[in-house]
Amino acid sequence: MASVEFADVRKSFGTHPVIKGVDIKIEDGEFVILVGPSGCGKSTLLRMLAGLENISAGEIKIGGQVVNGLAPKERDIAMVFQNYALYPHMTVADNMAFSLTLKRASKAEIEKRVKPAAEILGLTPLLDRFPRQLSGGQRQRVAMGRAIVRDPQVFLFDEPLSNLDAKLRVAMRAEIKELHQRLKTTTVYVTHDQIEAMTMADKIVVMHDGLVEQIGAPLELYDQPANLFVASFIGSPA
Ligand code: ADP
Ligand code: MG
Repeated sequence: MASVEFADVRKSFGTHPVIKGVDIKIEDGEFVILVGPSGCGKSTLLRMLAGLENISAGEIKIGGQVVNGLAPKERDIAMVFQNYALYPHMTVADNMAFSLTLKRASKAEIEKRVKPAAEILGLTPLLDRFPRQLSGGQRQRVAMGRAIVRDPQVFLFDEPLSNLDAKLRVAMRAEIKELHQRLKTTTVYVTHDQIEAMTMADKIVVMHDGLVEQIGAPLELYDQPANLFVASFIGSPA
């Protein structure tokens, strides 16, 4: 059974169609990257999967269950945004625990989840700090920590590294991949960066103007692009 499935998914804003019939199947544990030029509909697709945007037609499934109409908190997902959206007045530990606090988890339960997540991310010495006392990379790790403590079926990332400088971006790519190798959580990751897609993905979905142009492993797209768009997009770094 696929972990995530889009079946003929469509979305219009008013009369303007932005997703024009998308089919994608993502297997359990896969690291899938949606890549394509700015404005092609990547964030809209991810937001529909998260339940932050309703869908105009088609079906989205998570773990075999149709989620059309389910609120974000009713979906077994956790999203990491580009602007980490940490709470400035809360410590790292409290930021990480926030979703559990909302669910009225016990103190013991919170500790049981936050500690190992902090350990994995190298945040243990920073748990009492506030976001303003952290570097960009550390803030990014806290944002990931918030997702990990929820232990979701699927992680969603929308351009998580685009605010970081080039050097840190390269380091964080490796960290996110390591994290995936440890946790094996199904991941859907959006970027407009071809290099990020080619170096991080198990499977790449190339999007263009609201449609999927090709789905395949990085080398497959590189060796056998389905059309000129894929060839030029994968072939030429932005
Ligand atoms: P990407 O993430 O690939 O850059 P988006 O999914 O953000 O693209 O946007 C796809 C298209 O949908 C763009 O033309 C964008 O202007 C439009 N769009 C996105 N969100 C809205 C919205 N809330 N209202 C109207 N148009 C939108
Ligand atoms: Mg976007």
